[in-house]
Amino acid sequence: MISVDEALKQVREFVMPLEAIERPLSESVGYALAETIVAATPLPPFDNSAMDGYAIQTEDVARANPENPVWLRLIGEVPAGSSFERPIHSGEAVRIMTGAPVPSTADAVVKLEEARLRREQVEIHEPVPRGKHIRRKGEDVTVGETVLEKGTTIRLQHLGLLASLGRKGIKVYRGPSVSFLTTGSELVEVGEALPPGKIHNTNGLILQKLLEGLGITPRNLGTVQDDPERLKTLIQKSATSDLLLISGGVSVGKYDYVKEVLQELGMKTFFWRVAIKPGQPILFGRLNHRWVFGLPGNPISCVVCFLLFVKPAIQRMMGTQNPQHPIVHAILQKGISKSDGRRHYLTAILREENRHFVITPTGKQGSGMLASLAQANAFIVVPEERNSLETGELVDVLPF
Ligand code: AMP
Ligand code: MG
Repeated sequence: MISVDEALKQVREFVMPLEAIERPLSESVGYALAETIVAATPLPPFDNSAMDGYAIQTEDVARANPENPVWLRLIGEVPAGSSFERPIHSGEAVRIMTGAPVPSTADAVVKLEEARLRREQVEIHEPVPRGKHIRRKGEDVTVGETVLEKGTTIRLQHLGLLASLGRKGIKVYRGPSVSFLTTGSELVEVGEALPPGKIHNTNGLILQKLLEGLGITPRNLGTVQDDPERLKTLIQKSATSDLLLISGGVSVGKYDYVKEVLQELGMKTFFWRVAIKPGQPILFGRLNHRWVFGLPGNPISCVVCFLLFVKPAIQRMMGTQNPQHPIVHAILQKGISKSDGRRHYLTAILREENRHFVITPTGKQGSGMLASLAQANAFIVVPEERNSLETGELVDVLPF
């Protein structure tokens, strides 16, 4: 049995990013960059006005004051999207709109509200500092500047920058193709009537949604009874997938065939048992060209193992350098105890109170407690070496 950290280390080390592909900018959110983005153009691309106003030469108004305003001759205008062909000379002003290029010899813009226009003359009442209201070429980004490092996960806030730099597509790591299947002779599909001894297949639905949440459209291979031959046939349908998830049948029960069948098919096993509760039986291996996780059938264990191990594996395939669990810290509202050396994850309710996060474990704990999972929005992490966590303590929390 290995620790959660050791298991996670193996996942992070073994799983490599998939090939790089070109994706349109509009479909790149959530993928990690497979190239470093260096600016080929400056931003902004030209000196432009930050205001609607008048482009002037500051020397002309150096001695302006309310008693002795300076009058400048209005010689034309520059709307956004056009340019003013000739330089302006001393004594002249050009009406300019926000975003329009500043005429070459102008060195400031006076806001519309701070000047007065009378009979094609612009009246200015005070001196203007050089560069006022001009957004300089390259002040945001200079040519040759590295703006995004390889491995950065593209988020909405990157799109403006990439689009402005003229990019239409970018190189990102390919998203994995993922298949999953559920095992268990007791399973009946969601919504169907339950014969005696049967339960609904909740994990199929949960895995589907967890995967979709990571931007993946998975292939559901279906449900199989605890029968090695049928299991083998179904596993073989995942041959072209980058990742296969199998729910249930991975423990030590008489009818738990998953590990055995995968090994017969030639899977190399990296780990099978992890010191975690819930979720102790969790299998990780490589079968031909695909990664395989055997997840425990208990729904809470299945969710915990997905968040802890499958999610970072997928993030690695999608190019994230070092996927981290989004741990936050919260004040524990109710003491917890445990008596083994495993790391525990307890379903809990995380909320904010007086500007602090507080966390309360749900009433019932157990790997099959679906009502507790339904109430919860987080897991409390109880470290291996602790036998108890006290009320008022700041504890690690994994929100979901
Ligand atoms: P297993 O991991 O196959 O030993 O199953 C552990 C527990 O989880 C058993 O009580 C199973 O009935 C239950 N279980 C297994 N698969 C599912 C599933 N897909 N949906 C809901 N419960 C399941
Ligand atoms: Mg089973």
